[in-house]
Amino acid sequence: MTMKPMKPIGGNQQQQVTVDLSQAENIVCKCGNYSYIQSYFLKRISALMSPTGQEAIVPVQVFSCGNCGEVFADGKDKSSEG
Ligand SMILES: [Zn+2]
Repeated sequence: MTMKPMKPIGGNQQQQVTVDLSQAENIVCKCGNYSYIQSYFLKRISALMSPTGQEAIVPVQVFSCGNCGEVFADGKDKSSEG
């Protein structure tokens, strides 16, 4: 018979993820820059597409290169989205 270790009871513990960021790779832009600025795409949802039946503007957070402005796309195929 094997005993499994039990989880501590009553713990509403937040899972802590410790990552050594000094060991992590920097995402480098095509232009060689590796600092990014937070910016937003603004998506216009037409009244026909909107669940509320009204036109809406939806911000989508992205990161763009602080040097050339290239949006970091995380390897996604831009054309397949939406
Ligand atoms: Zn760049």
